Amino acid sequence: MSFTNQLKKATLRTAFGFLEKNPEENALKLMSWVDKLAGDGPDSFPVHRAAVRQVLEDPQNNMYQLAMSILKETDSEVLKATFETFFLNANIIGWPKQQELRKKYNCNIPWAILLDPTSACNLHCTGCWAAEYGNKLNLTFDEIDSIITQGKELGVYMYIYTGGEPLVRKKDLIALCEKHSDCQFLSFTNATLIDEAFANEMLRVKNFIPAISVEGFESATDGRRGNGTYQKVIQAMAILKEKHLPFGLSCCYTSQNLDSISSYEFIDQMIQWGARFVWYFHYMPVGNDAVPELLPNPEQREFMYHRIRDIRATKPIFAMDFQNDGEYVC
Ligand code: SF4
Repeated sequence: MSFTNQLKKATLRTAFGFLEKNPEENALKLMSWVDKLAGDGPDSFPVHRAAVRQVLEDPQNNMYQLAMSILKETDSEVLKATFETFFLNANIIGWPKQQELRKKYNCNIPWAILLDPTSACNLHCTGCWAAEYGNKLNLTFDEIDSIITQGKELGVYMYIYTGGEPLVRKKDLIALCEKHSDCQFLSFTNATLIDEAFANEMLRVKNFIPAISVEGFESATDGRRGNGTYQKVIQAMAILKEKHLPFGLSCCYTSQNLDSISSYEFIDQMIQWGARFVWYFHYMPVGNDAVPELLPNPEQREFMYHRIRDIRATKPIFAMDFQNDGEYVC
């Protein structure tokens, strides 16, 4: 790592130390340090930094409340590691390197790499393609390790697992967190394999964040995901909250569940469960057993477009839409 990057990291680590001690008092000071180090070049995110500053200047702002609850309620070692992997490596260090290599090779380099460790899943939800593929498609540990190693050479420090159910490979995923402790890992998951022991592993490695699938209040009884699944998911979130581990949610909206899954009552429930972000995406009919009737119609998609912006403007949870929110997911 270059001397300049080492200096940037050391300076921001010191600033983060102050932030931890008194978040309300020191958040704006940290931003001033970030502004100085970022400079004013075209790749220094002036618009994003101004937006963060605006939030930090207003204690009534819902995103200010979200930031403070993350800073105060997250396990301090996990928080430190996340600052290092997500804030410093994936952004401050990784982004300029990606930009340099984009120009050099004249091709895009992604900020994050999404990969499916497996097509296998321990559930068999109605309308999901995973059951069709079974456990036939798997990346080996060495293949995933190689993808991450090559990604880091390009400045990519953010890895997102989808599936199937990535946690059927939880031993490998934890080993990869350990081996690549400078990276941040986020995994979509049905959460039924998260138990006390796995949460302790998350505390140990510190760089693994789950995005848990939830489907609205009616999924407690509708049986689409299998009886008892809803209770297992609630139990997993309770374990994570109790251990001060950060997590988010992943919500698949369909023509049937849209009203419930986007209701303010359900959003408030997500916040109470302890989720910091919610990632919406609409049902995608894939495979022979797909149910096209579950696809939201154009009016429902437009409703979600506005609803998600409203959640983002008023609730202490960061909401985004995988398909209809280009500014956050492209
Ligand atoms: S948990 Fe997810 S991957 Fe598994 S069957 Fe259900 S929808 Fe498909």
